[in-house]
Amino acid sequence: MSLLIKNGQIITAEKDFFADVYIKNEKVNLIEQNLDRDAQDIIDAKGKYVIPGGIDVHTHLDMPYGEITSSDDFETGTIAASFGGTTSIIDFATQSKGKSLQDAFNIWQKKAKGKAVIDYGFHMIITELPDSQLAEMDELINNGITSFKMFMAYPDRLMLDDNTIFKAMKQAQKNGSLILIHAENGIEIDEIVKNALAEGKTAPIFHALTRPAETEGEAVERSIELAEKSGCSLYIVHLSTNDGLEKISEARKKGFPVFAETCPQYLFLSLEDMNNQNFEDAKLIFTPPVREKWHQQKLWEGLINNQLQVVATDHCPFCFNGQKDLGKNDFTKIPSGGPGIENRMQLLFEGGVNGRRFSINRWVDLTSTTPAKLFGMYPKKGTIEIGSDADIVIWDPNKMHTISSETHHMNVDYSLYEGMKIQGSAETVISRGEIIISNNKFIGEVGRGRFIKRKKGNYNF
Ligand code: MN
Ligand code: MN
Repeated sequence: MSLLIKNGQIITAEKDFFADVYIKNEKVNLIEQNLDRDAQDIIDAKGKYVIPGGIDVHTHLDMPYGEITSSDDFETGTIAASFGGTTSIIDFATQSKGKSLQDAFNIWQKKAKGKAVIDYGFHMIITELPDSQLAEMDELINNGITSFKMFMAYPDRLMLDDNTIFKAMKQAQKNGSLILIHAENGIEIDEIVKNALAEGKTAPIFHALTRPAETEGEAVERSIELAEKSGCSLYIVHLSTNDGLEKISEARKKGFPVFAETCPQYLFLSLEDMNNQNFEDAKLIFTPPVREKWHQQKLWEGLINNQLQVVATDHCPFCFNGQKDLGKNDFTKIPSGGPGIENRMQLLFEGGVNGRRFSINRWVDLTSTTPAKLFGMYPKKGTIEIGSDADIVIWDPNKMHTISSETHHMNVDYSLYEGMKIQGSAETVISRGEIIISNNKFIGEVGRGRFIKRKKGNYNF
């Protein structure tokens, strides 16, 4: 297998230059101007950007949710991802109570195997952690899972008490893994929800109104406090508020290894998009919820100033018809999660680069390079260097695209960004040297994706 990309403008997190790229045996083999090599395929990338493939470190494919599962599995979800220029994902495996962490790892490996079309890794969600299981964290690291997520929300299902979180953090400090936190004060939220239901407030908008911004701020602060005391590195998932952002900024100013991601839905959608008139609002039910619009500007500033380092999707789709409507009469029964895996690169390009908020290099950094560094995949993934995996996207900065559920590839019957026009889209997508998207078609083989055995991340930046 060999492939030559001619005449493109190569963009990495640090560099911007014109050169040809020669790919052999799944890897970048040469980067030079006017390369003349025989290759099985030659792509002319004149006028296009040549970027490292996107890395989405927060997805939930084939995720059980009560009686149902998220509507994309590893096949449909990773195909949709590849259309959007994402060539690696990290999905979340969830420990079942009473079972080992390894058990969850095996279950999620089975879900992905034979289906994923791009490379994939897993984070492990810890739902209980007796002392006898602490060593399992170390074992998983040897198996390529180097990040562990815990919940401060959902007391009845997933939440861990601070003692358990602290215990896991101390283990992470010892073994060099990264702790991920879903930062919402679940106890406080559940109390607010209970009162709302008692007052007959059952419409979808009350999902958002019963999870106030302060409950994220408080949980972010508490998780930072625990992380500082334990000495571990911390990564806050799906940060949605200025309340949380301020706490992260303070910790980073003190030099603590605290990182955070936000998601397109918090940059582009807000409480003002809910009309409170009908059940359509259920499409915008995900957790944390949409916030008042002013938070958006703060989150963009966070991305510009490197107080936020990553943009991931939290892709967790549920169909409006047949899934979201389980909560027709009670917002707490609406499956919480939204689709986004296909549109992340486009949305960030539109809002960030076209919107002149940050450079094209920063766009690559937020969507690929820093995720690769933090999650132990760099420089195999997340850059275009000699020896790195040839996960490369030919990005056409002028291609016009209108986002719509009519044309998207995610297995879900609505889009959060219906009708939105984007200038800039993936044209050709290459995964480990193989063209998988060409001429708006997926041409790869189902199941070709491989498990990424991740190393420990770099938390020193
Ligand atoms: Mn979450
Ligand atoms: Mn999530």
